[in-house]
Amino acid sequence: MIIAIDGHSSCGKSTIAKALAKRLGYTYVDTGAMYRAVTFFCQQNNLIQNGVVDENALKQRIDEINISFALNSNTQQQDTYLNGINVEKQIRSMEVAHDVSNVSKIGFVRKAMVEKQQKYGESANVVMDGRDIGTVVFPHADYKFFVTASPEVRAQRRYDELMAKEGHANYNEILENLKQRDFIDTTRAESPLRQADDAILVDTSNMTREGQLEWILSKIQ
Ligand code: C5P
Repeated sequence: MIIAIDGHSSCGKSTIAKALAKRLGYTYVDTGAMYRAVTFFCQQNNLIQNGVVDENALKQRIDEINISFALNSNTQQQDTYLNGINVEKQIRSMEVAHDVSNVSKIGFVRKAMVEKQQKYGESANVVMDGRDIGTVVFPHADYKFFVTASPEVRAQRRYDELMAKEGHANYNEILENLKQRDFIDTTRAESPLRQADDAILVDTSNMTREGQLEWILSKIQ
């Protein structure tokens, strides 16, 4: 069974996907974390300057990038590992958020990530969240949801999350970043973000977390 959850940046997709996976006993795969980890690799290895990726150099090194997930026993959430090192905190930074859409629009990066994502789906029941899961990664997914909310609601949620985690955040910077990511993600040539024809739309602007989960479960069961 494959459940695809796509949607705009910071719309609550991953919260829904995690809760759904937990409730159903499925494996949760955060594909955004994979693109974020590739971005962090680029930043660490000087493969990106002012948002411009050195594509030739990255192409030569793409096979060096090994991404995996493991359960964090403290948070009970999955942490992302890049070449064996836990990078969960680093990949959630604004610095990575600024560059990630410029990395994820590159065709060979997408190809490498999509192959890994399809392998996850071959071996387990999965809830996978991202931008192209219902359109490209699993066009025949059993269920597809497309999640969105207004940019202001999304920015406020991200702001609250960062304040709780880091103690500091800038609402305007977050709002600009998510509008910019939406723009790049929806207009890129390679697998642009779009709602699959057979995906169910979920606008979470006026829904609580519990409400979102129950609503989606009602569509599945
Ligand atoms: O989901 P998250 O906001 O962590 O994703 C970060 C970025 O990764 C997105 O803005 C998008 O550029 C990219 N992404 C993608 N395809 C996916 C998942 C994420 O292009 N399936």
